[in-house]
Amino acid sequence: MQLCSRCYSITEEDPCSICADARRDVRLICVVAEAKDVFAIERTSAYDGRYHVLGGLISPMDGIGPSQLRVRELVDRVASEAPAEIIVATNPNAEGEATALYLSRLLSPSGVAITRLAYGLPIGGDLDYADENTLARAIEGRRTL
Ligand SMILES: [Zn+2]
Repeated sequence: MQLCSRCYSITEEDPCSICADARRDVRLICVVAEAKDVFAIERTSAYDGRYHVLGGLISPMDGIGPSQLRVRELVDRVASEAPAEIIVATNPNAEGEATALYLSRLLSPSGVAITRLAYGLPIGGDLDYADENTLARAIEGRRTL
């Protein structure tokens, strides 16, 4: 196993099967913290673009800044591949938020659309069992029926 030289996911072949697949939508790059997040999103079959694995999240508490992550490589890909949209799929916690905000500020001058995963309620859950933050985010992330 090795890292894909394009998206930095874990793979047997380089480039990985996702980067090598001409049927994938090259206009979309989904940014995730770890390769396991690629596999989680792939299991949904809801996404047909490509990925970029950062190798972690920005965490000032742990001394992890953008230079320790594959941010420069992402900037290079935005310049060379000219995607239409960057989907930031980081965890809904402090590190995930900090990373999403940083990437948004860094990449917005390039003109690429930057989106964030919607926050939702757990499927099969009850509204009155959801914590306030989850419910507040679900209200903010509502969409037209
Ligand atoms: Zn790849």
